[in-house]
Amino acid sequence: MPTLAKAYVATSATSPLQPGVVERREPGESEVRIAIKFTGICHSDIHTARGDWAGVKYPVVVGHEIAGVVEAVGAKVTRYAVGDRVGVGCFVDSCRECANCLAGEEQYCLAGSISTYNSVGRDGLPTAGGYSTGIVVDENYVVRIPDGVSLEAAAPLLCAGITMYSPLRNWGAGPGKRVAIIGMGGLGHMGVKIAAALGAEVTVLSQSLKKQEDALRLGAEGYYATSDPATFEVLRDYFDLVINTVSADIDVDQYLSLLAVDGTMVLVGLPSKPLTQRAWSLIGSRRSLAGSKMGGIRQTQEMLNFCAAHGFGAEVEVIPASKINDAYERVMASDVRYRFVIDAATF
Ligand code: NAP
Ligand code: ZN
Ligand code: ZN
Repeated sequence: MPTLAKAYVATSATSPLQPGVVERREPGESEVRIAIKFTGICHSDIHTARGDWAGVKYPVVVGHEIAGVVEAVGAKVTRYAVGDRVGVGCFVDSCRECANCLAGEEQYCLAGSISTYNSVGRDGLPTAGGYSTGIVVDENYVVRIPDGVSLEAAAPLLCAGITMYSPLRNWGAGPGKRVAIIGMGGLGHMGVKIAAALGAEVTVLSQSLKKQEDALRLGAEGYYATSDPATFEVLRDYFDLVINTVSADIDVDQYLSLLAVDGTMVLVGLPSKPLTQRAWSLIGSRRSLAGSKMGGIRQTQEMLNFCAAHGFGAEVEVIPASKINDAYERVMASDVRYRFVIDAATF
């Protein structure tokens, strides 16, 4: 029997999110039903709910930083049992056959992975995300939350955590590497924690000095305000890796100038307008400009285990569902320390 889950729904790009319901199917043979406990507010939820990106189909229930407890399992489920602490991230299915799926990089599925929200599921119905009390997901797209991390601190790891862990690992952040994180928000603060735990020298490039104390506490060794032109003089040619988490337009050339020879700037922030950069900014020091999207299921589990082993989750402010619209305003004003997480008991 399908069940109705309470939810918060975006009905148009301009209306506030409001209470509603979403129908969840009976778990199939290989699916689990998860009682959602906490859901993080990712800036991508806001881009989607506010129609910043093309292709949003309203009404939409966003949320892809989901932490909860398994409450029912299909007959052929082997990996999870009722009561297990689990998470769901940005996608809930993929083709499972293409080279990228077989390599455990389902986020790059050649047939297109099925997003947790604003997508169409295998059942032909629109997918609906974590701003709700429950969700049904195939066990292969569910990860286990280790005991060492609370569910509220774990929720943001499902997107912010993996989106930073994946490029940090891919581009070899570790001892002897100088890493800069642009933007100290949800993604950025996880970048600081993870890069520091990997042993890299981490520097935060933030619009102001307001978050300096926090950044140093989380493991950064350097912290500079990008509003100060001297920052770009002092740090010129310095970094091996720069990760841009900014949700708005930035001057890419200015940040490329901070890379040493063979350094790479990785884009993870997703502004709605195209970015531009001069060829010389790359050619002048054999630099690379790259991008990275979340991480696969296997790497997401590895990241959760890594965070638990190092004894950290995200820095969160837990809010009731009635504060979602206020939280959106604060995220857009860069006024979040460092992830809002919705208590699903309040939907
Ligand atoms: P967030 O919490 O709002 O953090 C973004 C940070 O960017 C802010 O805290 C702020 O940091 C900085 N910033 C904001 N506006 C700025 C501006 N106009 N100029 C310069 N800096 C600015 O957002 P988030 O949840 O971390 O997400 C960040 C971006 O990543 C979003 O675009 C999101 O859609 C995208 N994203 C991509 C992936 C992926 O797979 N690639 C996954 C998740 C999210 P300071 O206050 O320190 O300056
Ligand atoms: Zn996200
Ligand atoms: Zn695939």
